[in-house]
Amino acid sequence: MSLYRIYPLKTGTIIVDQGAYVTRGIGLGREMEIPGTAWYVTDGRRKIMVDVGMCHTELADWHHKGSRQEPGEAVHEQLQARGVDPAEIELVILTHLHWDHCHNLDKFTKARFVVHSRELAFARDPIPPYYKSYEHTRLGKTPPFAAIPLETLEGEAEILPGLTVFPTPGHSPGHQSVAVATEGGIHVITGDAVFSYANLVPANDYQPFTVMGRFVNIVESWRSMEEIVRRGKVILPGHDLRTMDHPVYPAGTGN
Ligand SMILES: [Zn+2]
Repeated sequence: MSLYRIYPLKTGTIIVDQGAYVTRGIGLGREMEIPGTAWYVTDGRRKIMVDVGMCHTELADWHHKGSRQEPGEAVHEQLQARGVDPAEIELVILTHLHWDHCHNLDKFTKARFVVHSRELAFARDPIPPYYKSYEHTRLGKTPPFAAIPLETLEGEAEILPGLTVFPTPGHSPGHQSVAVATEGGIHVITGDAVFSYANLVPANDYQPFTVMGRFVNIVESWRSMEEIVRRGKVILPGHDLRTMDHPVYPAGTGN
């Protein structure tokens, strides 16, 4: 079986209300900076991305006032800084199609793109409160995935040896996460099924998690967190700056 290394890439900074987005009801009114994260995954031969991160500052600021992408933070620039040409990427797995996970897909000229079928269906025809999340045409935008040939999955799949995609709905209708085999055990790249490490802290003595602020279905979201914790020795949340404390995972395996 292939063993992989995982590199967190920071593609920008999003300004959110902590209680509205990160931890439901906890920290309401408190502004918080979170990273727009993408993940480069490689076994030394195959080159894979899980999510590709967010857009340039002007559009990011439209989503969440004050959000930004500094020079050099775009996903292709982050890869090039690590000596990887985006054209070398053979597979892009999208956890979901919210704006901060799927910009610059056109830079991956030789890749397959994989998303869950339910996510693609909803992203193309969301309910109005989610128009902004998907940059819907009704708001005068072009969805970042509109011109990309997306392949759809229906459920769990070992998409490459040691790389398993599994459904984790709740944050969005067709969300999926990725279990990655590494020499340090299974690492789960959660996407936004776990927003932050703060969601993995018990809310009280009978709730082992803290619900995130953003979900379409709280029951599915909770079950997805249970499934992620069951599978993963190491959990890598979608929007936690602390994931950047290590340049590579498994932590301590060099650069
Ligand atoms: Zn999201």
